[in-house]
Amino acid sequence: MAGTFIDPAPSPLALLLLGREADSSSERGVECPGDLPPASDPDLIERAKRAKETLGERVFILGHHYQRDEVIQFADVTGDSFKLAQKAAAKPQAEFIVFCGVHFMAESADILTGENQQVILPDLAAGCSMADMAEITQVEQCWADLTEAGVAGVTIPITYMNSTAAIKAFTGRNGGSICTSSNAQRSLEWAFQQGEKVLFLPDQHLGRNTAVRDLGLSLEDCVVYNPNRPLGGLTKEQIQNAKVILWKGHCSVHGRFTPDCVDSVREKVPGITVIVHPECTYEVVEKADQVGSTEKIIAAIESAPPGSAWAIGTELNLVKRLALAHPDKEIVYLDKTVCFCSTMNRIDLPHLVWSLEQLATGNVVNQIKVDPETSHWARVALDRMLALPGLSATVD
Ligand code: SF4
Repeated sequence: MAGTFIDPAPSPLALLLLGREADSSSERGVECPGDLPPASDPDLIERAKRAKETLGERVFILGHHYQRDEVIQFADVTGDSFKLAQKAAAKPQAEFIVFCGVHFMAESADILTGENQQVILPDLAAGCSMADMAEITQVEQCWADLTEAGVAGVTIPITYMNSTAAIKAFTGRNGGSICTSSNAQRSLEWAFQQGEKVLFLPDQHLGRNTAVRDLGLSLEDCVVYNPNRPLGGLTKEQIQNAKVILWKGHCSVHGRFTPDCVDSVREKVPGITVIVHPECTYEVVEKADQVGSTEKIIAAIESAPPGSAWAIGTELNLVKRLALAHPDKEIVYLDKTVCFCSTMNRIDLPHLVWSLEQLATGNVVNQIKVDPETSHWARVALDRMLALPGLSATVD
């Protein structure tokens, strides 16, 4: 008799969806070396509190703005990736830095924190699709292509924080600087004082928005280097004529907002102010009323007058929290079909509880450690950003 066949051995994909392993062929990291508590455990909040109390000052929990509420409630500090790494570095008594964010953020925290501090990522499969769009071998091939086109010597790499430590190190070795979404303009201006061209990694939208809107370059001054095509899909002449060579990468959340979202929300709520993150496409940013980093978006909402209406184009967890915190203002999400950052959301309460309890029993799990050579050159690139004239010591 035919019946339903139930495979007794769950597939790697099924385990991945359950948050118990990592698909090593598609994602960085390894499986969690232990048993995660079930998400249905009613004691999870108490368990997290107990483990955190047991660890006391030895642990410092960082919560990225895009993180789930269930995890953010345990964060000692919230912010964007660079601010969080700086906060961890300023807390040397904390030997365990639990980063509720994604892999590249934990790498940056490891680069900036002291030797005595260990950075933990509760789920090693929490990556960033944008950072993963620039592999170091691809970037080295791009540099070889620029060398062949005769322009590498006059090109300065500028790399967004949302990149692997290896790409940051490449940037440091080749005379470039890191940037955040709030200082990209200053970084590009600096780069054009050092050389004639910029290779902007890995977010083409932040690079284009900054080059065209803030520096006054034309769209034609920018070309897009596709790492999956010979010579990036460009001719030598295109590379030689370009002022900004944009890496073909994007954020899978912010890249989904469209100009139609802006038109539609304006139709529904006349007079609404549209504010978007610069990882959105050029067309969306051009249509919006305001553009800015997550910290700038938060500041804009906090200082807005009661009764004002805002449509926000950034990650949904942050927008939800802003709406809850400001019931006197009308706050809507720019597009209801755009989802949470799925990789960021892999850090859930079971993973946080598991990692804290392991640390409380003396078992260091899921440590993110950048090798000394990579760390050194990535630090060089980060220090160049911090040395940019006109930047405050804290960079949002
Ligand atoms: S929101 Fe975008 S850039 Fe940020 S972690 Fe998620 S995929 Fe990466």
